[in-house]
Amino acid sequence: MFAMPTDKPINKPAYWLILSQNKLVRLENQSTFILARHSELEFVSQYLNNAVRVGQYQQTDCYMLDMEQQAPDHSNAELIGLRDALMSENDDAFNIIARAWQVAVFLRTHRYCGQCGSQMQRVDRELATHCHRCQHRCYPRISPCIIVAIKKQQQILLARGRHHKQGMYSTLAGFVESGESLEQAVHREVMEEVGIKIKNLRYFDSQPWPFPHSLMMGFLAEHDSGEINVDGEEILEADWYAADSLPVTPPEFSIAGRLIKAALRK
Ligand SMILES: [Zn+2]
Repeated sequence: MFAMPTDKPINKPAYWLILSQNKLVRLENQSTFILARHSELEFVSQYLNNAVRVGQYQQTDCYMLDMEQQAPDHSNAELIGLRDALMSENDDAFNIIARAWQVAVFLRTHRYCGQCGSQMQRVDRELATHCHRCQHRCYPRISPCIIVAIKKQQQILLARGRHHKQGMYSTLAGFVESGESLEQAVHREVMEEVGIKIKNLRYFDSQPWPFPHSLMMGFLAEHDSGEINVDGEEILEADWYAADSLPVTPPEFSIAGRLIKAALRK
């Protein structure tokens, strides 16, 4: 299907992130990062041509290998969800798991040209797919999102979104629209979702968020004017919370969790 990648793994120990269906493969006594020579991974031998080097983990080459819809034929293999994999590994692992996942999603969803419908080929020299009929070339899609923690004196605005887990409150977030700056996106999202104006917008940090290909860009801001008035669509409830009376909030492995912590520290 795809041309042989130039980054074909040589047979020395490497870390493997193996995808099967919509999960990651974990072998008994290993983390999600499977340390092995590829000759030891018999159950994936027919997929080795799909391997993509996604960087280094602990000074060792790391490859993503996608079994697509096939289940691993291995007695000690289990499948774990992406969120569980991200939570159970250390901070260094987060970005490389996110990258492996996004590369797999990209290759799965770019088999055919979006312009003329022909089959796409993988490009050797860069991570891209190319249509040799109409010369259309695709790169992994990255969707910029803003996420913002808003303070009012010693309190922080937390909201319960329609898509949040039951009882979970978080900072506001939303996709950047075409033609919009990050700052404009923050002001617009806050006004749309809770009806307030903010000021003193400051950049905080960013995080790839592979559900499926977002790049979260975090900001801190302060309340300027207006009363909370939720949109009832994306946001069902929102209020100001002090540090000693927080509801359930996202874990600190997510940028939302770190933003909340940083906002309340000041
Ligand atoms: Zn084409």
